[in-house]
Amino acid sequence: MTEKEVAILRIGHRPERDQRVTTHVALTGRALGARGMFLATRDKGVVQSVADVADRWGGNFFCTDDVKWRTCVKEWKASGGKVVHLTMYGINLPDIIGEIRPCEKLLVVVGAEKVPGEMYGLADYNVAVTGQPHSEIASLALFLDRFYDGSEFYSTFPDAKIRIVPSRAGKQTEEL
Ligand code: SAM
Repeated sequence: MTEKEVAILRIGHRPERDQRVTTHVALTGRALGARGMFLATRDKGVVQSVADVADRWGGNFFCTDDVKWRTCVKEWKASGGKVVHLTMYGINLPDIIGEIRPCEKLLVVVGAEKVPGEMYGLADYNVAVTGQPHSEIASLALFLDRFYDGSEFYSTFPDAKIRIVPSRAGKQTEEL
């Protein structure tokens, strides 16, 4: 896998109901090649859960809460990055991924509740993972897989305390 700089921006998170889904957005991003997640709400519970996993399973995934989403997007673009907003109203993933794949620095934005209209204009690409409503976790997973073209399956996670030994049957792990 090449060393692309990919981060997630999670907007619209409601601490009272989205903690599990937002944590899964981060963990899915981490497993599939993102470097970290910006969370546009204050929620130390999510930050701690993600840190606990990263501590045990390795790598340097960051999770920063309480970011201002507009500033995050604008600063990302100002530093030369591109912004992909995942939305069912966008261009269907297979029709646009070829244009996005060469980008070296990418911010992938996913919503929770209704996403502010301004986001559609700020994004370099509004990308649909089909034109049907479903889930931010599924959209992110499919997007990252198409972006990395499968190479994310071979990522390594330095300084892990535990590793799975792939087995056809049973559960085998190795403490490091
Ligand atoms: N109803 C909300 C709206 O109109 O913005 C979307 C809610 S949906 C549960 C939460 C997030 O999942 C969306 O903001 C989007 O990032 C992602 N999502 C859901 N379906 C999608 C699709 N077909 N393609 C891309 N992203 C999708």
